[in-house]
Amino acid sequence: MITSPTFAGKHYAVLGLARSGLASVAALVAGGAKVTAWDAREEPRAFVAAAHDGAVELADPCLIDLTGFAGVVVSPGVPINRHPIADAARAADVPLICDIELFAQSRDALPPHKVIGITGTNGKSTTTALTTHLLTVAGVPALMGGNIGLPILGQVPLPAGGVYVLELSSYQIDLTLRLDCDVAMLLNLSPDHLDRYEGYAGYVAAKTRLFGMQAFGHLAIVDHRAEMDEDVMRDAPDGQPFQFIDGVDLPGQQSDWPSLQGPHNRANAAAAVAAVRQMGIDDAVIERGLKSFRGLPHRMEQVGEANGVIFINDSKATNPASAAPALAAFPPKVPGGHRRIHWILGGLPKGDDLDECAPFFGNVAAAYTIGDAGQRFAEILTDRVPVTRSEMMCEAIRQAIEVASPGDVVLLSPACASFDQFRDYEARGDAFRQIVEVLTGEDANAADCTNLPGAST
Ligand code: ADP
Repeated sequence: MITSPTFAGKHYAVLGLARSGLASVAALVAGGAKVTAWDAREEPRAFVAAAHDGAVELADPCLIDLTGFAGVVVSPGVPINRHPIADAARAADVPLICDIELFAQSRDALPPHKVIGITGTNGKSTTTALTTHLLTVAGVPALMGGNIGLPILGQVPLPAGGVYVLELSSYQIDLTLRLDCDVAMLLNLSPDHLDRYEGYAGYVAAKTRLFGMQAFGHLAIVDHRAEMDEDVMRDAPDGQPFQFIDGVDLPGQQSDWPSLQGPHNRANAAAAVAAVRQMGIDDAVIERGLKSFRGLPHRMEQVGEANGVIFINDSKATNPASAAPALAAFPPKVPGGHRRIHWILGGLPKGDDLDECAPFFGNVAAAYTIGDAGQRFAEILTDRVPVTRSEMMCEAIRQAIEVASPGDVVLLSPACASFDQFRDYEARGDAFRQIVEVLTGEDANAADCTNLPGAST
């Protein structure tokens, strides 16, 4: 666990006891802090009370006087733009923070190390995993944490010379006061999470704070389109060194990197390569690492093949900008030839259009819409490609299998959040894989969609 003696004797509140909240409580208690913890659900409250017998007080920080607290650690899932905790903390002049800020406060107590911070609308997890992989191949002690689902405070501290690779959502950056990344990167920007920010400008401002927290001389890696459109370096110290992602010279051939296909992954690779070069890794090692990298689940993950048709799970594509590269990845085998993609899309929409995907509609043989966005997406697509309003995932896969021919691709790349029909994008991707297994297996004819995952909300 990562903790710090600077916590000793201070009083923190922790609101939201999921993975990062639980790790925060444990790190604070281990550092000698007093902790008041809360979650709307009884189960995690009971868990914390039992795990930290007597060391943690259970109370809702919205309902107590927070005067004198050193910070309120809120789960990044708590919408601080409208949740009462924001007023309660402001009234007591207590900062709202998250586990990443606690990590930043713990850095002085850790052996000498470096931090790479990674944000952007899409590609964060892939780039975080790839950067960590490249460092590991080079023999540098490295671990990843943050938004990738691994709370950083729950990890074993690295030995001297180690590199912490942090995936940071805009929510986490909002809740971080002073993280000085040796390398910070902003992969790309497109509208997302607009329910949490004052428009797109507010979202961009949240992301660019990552550069504002860097010390002078620390490298910023940016997408030149974002730089030109939004001046993302505006908070950085004057004269801060920066590198455009598309200006990075990549070692080797992208065709040799099986898990980094498509233009979006070329950009992700470029950003990771620039970061590890800054850490002193040489190109021969980087080239080996790009070849041996294996991607993450739910991102362009092949989960089956039957009768020459492949099944791709891209459930992590939760907005149109991230579904677009998936559509781009499977063009007709000859220009203007047979279209190959059977595109399953829909869910809880993030917007009202599919504009970012439109340039690639010419790769789509047929579309199958599911979930809340089904009707709207069917309207958008109907003059461009054959559309079936399947409503449910199982129906969509079954209908796609019926018409797909060898060489085709059944692609789940929903361009939407999952919460209308699934717990999260992982549950949606798991459902896709399980249904594909059944509907392409020996007992496919006997399979009944009403008994398969995702059949009901
Ligand atoms: P994040 O962690 O930012 O959500 P992931 O690496 O998990 O990003 O990828 C999420 C989705 O975005 C996947 O569907 C993937 O194919 C797509 N994607 C990955 N990198 C990029 C990129 N640089 N630009 C656009 N889409 C991307």
